[in-house]
Amino acid sequence: MRRLQTDILILGAGGAGLFAALHAKQADPSLSIAVAVKGLLGKCGCTRMVQGGYNVALAPGDSVERHFMDTIEGGAWLPDQDLAWALVNGAVVRVRELENELGCFFDRNPDGTIHQKAFAGQSFDRTVHKGDLTGIEIMNRLAEQVWARDIARLEEHRAIELVGTADGSALAGALLIDMRSGEYLFAQAKALLLATGGGPTMYRYHTPSGDKSCDGLAMALRAGLPLRDMEMVQFHPTGLLAGPETRMTGTVLEEGLRGAGGYLLDGRGERFMQRYDPRAERATRDIVSRAIRAEMVEGRTTPNGGVYLSMAHLGPDNVRRQFKGMVERCADCGFDLAGGRVEVVPTAHYMMGGVEFATDCTTALPGLFVAGEDSGGVHGANRLGGNGVANSTVFGGIAGDAMAAWVARAGELREPDPAAIDAAIARAERPFAKRGGGDLDAIRERLRSVMWDDAGIVRDARGLHRAQEALDALAAELERYALPSAARDRAFNLGWNEWLDLTSLVAVSHAIVCAAQARENSCGAHFRQDFSTPAPLGASAFIRVRQRDGRLVSEPVPVCFSRVRPGASLPV
Ligand SMILES: Cc1cc2nc3c(=O)[nH]c(=O)nc-3n(C[C@H](O)[C@H](O)[C@H](O)COP(=O)(O)OP(=O)(O)OC[C@H]3O[C@@H](n4cnc5c(N)ncnc54)[C@H](O)[C@@H]3O)c2cc1C
Repeated sequence: MRRLQTDILILGAGGAGLFAALHAKQADPSLSIAVAVKGLLGKCGCTRMVQGGYNVALAPGDSVERHFMDTIEGGAWLPDQDLAWALVNGAVVRVRELENELGCFFDRNPDGTIHQKAFAGQSFDRTVHKGDLTGIEIMNRLAEQVWARDIARLEEHRAIELVGTADGSALAGALLIDMRSGEYLFAQAKALLLATGGGPTMYRYHTPSGDKSCDGLAMALRAGLPLRDMEMVQFHPTGLLAGPETRMTGTVLEEGLRGAGGYLLDGRGERFMQRYDPRAERATRDIVSRAIRAEMVEGRTTPNGGVYLSMAHLGPDNVRRQFKGMVERCADCGFDLAGGRVEVVPTAHYMMGGVEFATDCTTALPGLFVAGEDSGGVHGANRLGGNGVANSTVFGGIAGDAMAAWVARAGELREPDPAAIDAAIARAERPFAKRGGGDLDAIRERLRSVMWDDAGIVRDARGLHRAQEALDALAAELERYALPSAARDRAFNLGWNEWLDLTSLVAVSHAIVCAAQARENSCGAHFRQDFSTPAPLGASAFIRVRQRDGRLVSEPVPVCFSRVRPGASLPV
């Protein structure tokens, strides 16, 4: 096993990971910093896939208070209010930093101010963007800045375990696999950031990039850390539906299309959203996704089993100009977005849940920090479109500052528990340890179907119980799985990596189901058919899930309304 020592180790190279690296380096240029990433730095993860844009209160008439209230109300009063407050204030600073220090250039109004567009669920047009490919602009500039600095890059290195000290009092580092050779690497670090970006890729239709398999959350569970809001999985209403044989199915058609006035039509070509919400297509994602599902259950579907998105009434030239990237993406799959109709289906997009953390990105384990989609509590029961990339960049920057301060104050290279490293290696070695077989493709397909059918947009006790049993069976199958003898070369071993991905996804799916069983009410993205009444807001509680002695346990934790109580509002 190779070893490496560094002051700061960052797992993940999305908006959160790269912002953390830049901020930590700026805080103290003498720090040694390493970024470990499953893919290539700048080219993987979901920040690069951000289409619509970035929420920030910049325009006259808007305010951080207003952005805060939209975030809290959108999140069904479940967000941690201090985290949400840090988000909306930090976004104002971060978007200036992105333009003025990192070199991003967002779309402008004729007077030179930053253009901000409408996004669903918001009371003001506040979404900053670069056309409809905003993430590419952000990630390219971030990656250039990281490349230009003395920051070590461990590309195609996947983290498989957080390793603590023998007495469990602090973090010592992380165990990784160099995917290019299959060798193990133990990276010892004074501070470590978990920024692997969640990603609900355990659902039949999903949007996140293929490198995301909830590894960070699975590692956090095994480390005994508390996770919150895991039942809150956001389905984006408009995933492209282009048939089962293309990976394009499930990819997202951005929120701005509905924000700009796009219509949703059932299979007969009729609008239906007014029947579900007075805001019609501009209702929040959870409401629109449930409405589409209801239409699907009633059988009012398109040839591929979804509904239509229609923009033609807004003028094809206008649509082509405003949504160039989306028009081209749809054309690639044979759809005319500007002048015709596109088939869409709700698609699993984002996990509001994640590791519990404080406003300085610290966690319950000293030395471990978390930011971005691996963290929980910022969005509560529902994330507003445009608050995701704001979340990862705002808290990524905060984590970088906080880790630099931690290293100065309390940072030391701590000795890892050797038994924990041995156990983690033994776990990862299971597919090599025996002869046998198994079918990873079949396991993946079953996982996606189970989560879609029984722990998806609409849930009930029976379905969740079925899901739990099916996940137990899938976990047992993964346990028995052995790599075929012809596929045991460790370098770029796709089967091994797929097995590791599925192991993480099944573990985190268990956490989703456990939290969904514990929440016997309906709230935001979590809808229980057998408990459809929302909980009284004044008594809101979030669900905490953690692993104890190999078993998941859950408990409700009352929400602290630290800034504003339900029914009240901040002065704007
Ligand atoms: C198609 C799409 C469109 C979106 N559009 C918007 C939008 O318009 N506005 C908005 O606000 N949000 C949007 N989002 C959400 C947004 O992308 C995310 O909220 C945010 O970018 C997440 O940032 P992150 O840094 O936490 O994770 P990511 O950017 O996903 O980065 C995670 C990183 O971790 C790495 N990684 C994963 N596992 C491991 C491991 N085991 N070891 C090492 N590295 C690992 C990955 O390779 C990747 O580099 C969109 C998401 C998608 C999928």
